[in-house]
Amino acid sequence: MTTPMRRQYLQIKKQFPDTIVLFRLGDFYETFDEDAKIVSQVCDIVLTSRPVGKGQRVPLAGVPHHAVEGYIARLVNAGHRVALVEQVADEATRGLMSREVVRVITPGTVVEPALLDAKRNNYLAAAVVDGDRAGVAYIDITTGEFRTTQLNGEVLTQVRQELERLSPAECLVMEDSPLVAFLGDTMHISEYEGWHFEEGNARRALLEHFGVASLAGYGCEGLPLAVRAAGAIIHYLKEMQKGALAQVTGLSTYSTASFMNLDAATRRNLELTATIRTGAVKGSLLGVLDDTVTPMGGRLLRQWVNQPLLDLQALEKRLSAVDAFYQDTPRRLQVIAVLKRIGDLERLINRVLGNIAGPRDLIALKSSLEAVPELLSALREMDREVIPLGELDPCPDVVALISQAIVPEPPATIAAGGVIAPGFSAELDGIAAAARDAKVWVASLEATERRRTGIKSLKVGYNKVFGYYIEVTKSNLAQVPADYVRKQTLVNAERFITPELKEKEALILNAEERMAELEAQIFRQVCEQVGAAGSRILQTARNIALVDVYSALAEVARRNNYTRPVLTDGDSIEIIAGRHPVVELTMREEPFVPNDTRLSPDEEILVITGPNMSGKSTYLRQVALIVLMAQIGSFVPADAATIGLVDRIFTRVGAQDEISAGQSTFMVEMIETANILHHATNKSLLILDEIGRGTSTYDGISIAWAVVEYIHNHPRLRAKTLFATHYHELTELADILPRVRNYNVAVAEEGDRVIFLRKIVPGGADRSYGIHVAQLAGLPRTVVHRAEEILAQLEREAERVPIRRLPPRPAGQAQQLPLFAADHPVLEELRRLDVMSLSPLEALNKLYELQKKLQSEK
Ligand code: ADP
Ligand code: MG
Repeated sequence: MTTPMRRQYLQIKKQFPDTIVLFRLGDFYETFDEDAKIVSQVCDIVLTSRPVGKGQRVPLAGVPHHAVEGYIARLVNAGHRVALVEQVADEATRGLMSREVVRVITPGTVVEPALLDAKRNNYLAAAVVDGDRAGVAYIDITTGEFRTTQLNGEVLTQVRQELERLSPAECLVMEDSPLVAFLGDTMHISEYEGWHFEEGNARRALLEHFGVASLAGYGCEGLPLAVRAAGAIIHYLKEMQKGALAQVTGLSTYSTASFMNLDAATRRNLELTATIRTGAVKGSLLGVLDDTVTPMGGRLLRQWVNQPLLDLQALEKRLSAVDAFYQDTPRRLQVIAVLKRIGDLERLINRVLGNIAGPRDLIALKSSLEAVPELLSALREMDREVIPLGELDPCPDVVALISQAIVPEPPATIAAGGVIAPGFSAELDGIAAAARDAKVWVASLEATERRRTGIKSLKVGYNKVFGYYIEVTKSNLAQVPADYVRKQTLVNAERFITPELKEKEALILNAEERMAELEAQIFRQVCEQVGAAGSRILQTARNIALVDVYSALAEVARRNNYTRPVLTDGDSIEIIAGRHPVVELTMREEPFVPNDTRLSPDEEILVITGPNMSGKSTYLRQVALIVLMAQIGSFVPADAATIGLVDRIFTRVGAQDEISAGQSTFMVEMIETANILHHATNKSLLILDEIGRGTSTYDGISIAWAVVEYIHNHPRLRAKTLFATHYHELTELADILPRVRNYNVAVAEEGDRVIFLRKIVPGGADRSYGIHVAQLAGLPRTVVHRAEEILAQLEREAERVPIRRLPPRPAGQAQQLPLFAADHPVLEELRRLDVMSLSPLEALNKLYELQKKLQSEK
């Protein structure tokens, strides 16, 4: 025999099998059975048990309702989804209260500020693949941003790239779709039933939600995959977070073709938003650039860094705005000071629209809006073309409403009472005044009645059961007036009430309840009215974000001595005295040495040689970062820079340089190199750092050589390339390939010591200086000397044929170096392999297979 409550619980639990169900019981949210075990473990709560019928007990773990946010945070962070079950019926109704799931919290649908990073969007994404087409949609329910796109050709790679740009908190994919395995270890995946992604259903969901007859207005009418991904998101929110749908007022369709494509390896290698070593923002490019002072500005800048543009005009607009702030320091400082008073308008108004705003949210909204007029006047004299002022609406009506309705320092919740300001509601004020008067009347009752009855010891008191009473000791009972009604008899005294006292008591007791009801009702109305201004406030918030980003980029440019880059549609890149934006800030002892860069159709490939630790990698990355910064609209760390816009930046770092352990294998390096060779164009910028380093010297040199040759000669490629290597043999390439130039990092030798000058100079390094580096690192003298001896011996024995004397490569045929045993079957297979037609995954499999064959010979 189980209790009715247990039955109710099990019924709800059945509908949410993979979800931790937090079941509201009075002041607690309780969890049972397996859920309780998980909660007790994840949240460090004592596991107890609860009777659920005769002789039956089940595990139980409960959390107090007022602290539930923190526990939800821990559970969601631990990868669980959480359903909140609330009591929906009135407390007063007798018997079993009805309960229902009001909200399911998943990583992509959290709204709790405790769970959100202010300067980062929290995206829920959906991806769907069908043949050679795919759709990716994403939403941030805390800001209302909702976008979708359709991708064609090489869809898996494209889907992954787009999702890596967004790094969603959660991604919906069709149950059992290949995407589950493909994306599984890179992000939190939620498998969702296939019918939600079905075109008809998805379309219907969108049409119904927006109340329209066509999706043309949203730009995705003819893009079925974009529709399917976006529709799945609407379905999901309907199920998980009904409240969030109110904020979803628009959908925009975008094209990935309008921004620079960056693969995951490149994002990671360039440390755009996180360092490789720690994953922190500090030490990344974003860490240097992010001087924003509002959360929405912070989020926008992160989006920009992740999404460099290709459009010259759009970039010039951004640069001009940054320039305006750069030129006018007093105004910039004034603007930044005002911005500092503005809170997260975007998320605040979304909380209002989603019906989850508290009293303090309204106050924060108000004080943010109050700063807008000052912002407007600070911006007034700036070029209107550059900073459009019209769309910064201070919404005085909203400010006035909140100031009148809400007390200046309200409690955190409406339930605490005292939220609505006096003077706003006559009804509320009336009840409060009546209650106050009644209390005053009761307080003076004792004195009045003592005077009236002449009983000096008469007392007025209160207890929970009987309410207010007048107490008279037995010896004075004779003097009790006729209007006293006996209520309770004690040993020495009698307690009485009077009709008037009863009336005042009712007034006092009911007042509290009625005031709470009324306050809640007024608060809802105020929120509704504020919500009506939602789109104006959102528009304002988005423009404030822009102003914030512009002024922040200008501030950073000033502080770090950046210059405005000259952008062109041409094919040359010229940087004078460029610096690495992150490394230059970490230099303490020696100053950062600036370096020039020249890349043009005549000088496409720079081979940069130099010893380890001389600054090759830093130089390569600095060029990539300067180009990327220019293409987000930032000033750049250089004395001057002319940047012919690039369509993509690729970086590949040799395996040994890869710091992140585990996956850094030679195979990964080769797969990524293959990816570059497949996808780069003559508009791309290639950063190849120590390619081929992950294998033996001869193999490495051969691969590196062949890769440079391929880039140089392939008609589609001819990409601008920086190639760093410590194999000085590769300097021979410049002798045979006309558009290759040699540079090296200058070193000075003092006796047997090497000093790095950090200066990139024309010409190739003549040797690797590896032993000198070993010496610098503090290897014992005897080891260093012995190494030098061995090196000399090896060099005598090698008598290596310079690579340039190898027979030139016949067109269309793989170049053959005498470094391999010529007719090995694995080589034969390699030779016949059509590398260009392989996907990265197929290449990986092939490599495995070949390696197996070789290993089985031993
Ligand atoms: P490599 O790739 O040649 O082994 P790195 O680029 O990793 O060398 O540089 C090694 C270190 O040298 C960096 O961590 C940095 O401290 C310093 N360095 C690099 N470039 C410069 C520069 N232009 N000016 C000053 N120091 C530099
Ligand atoms: Mg290096």
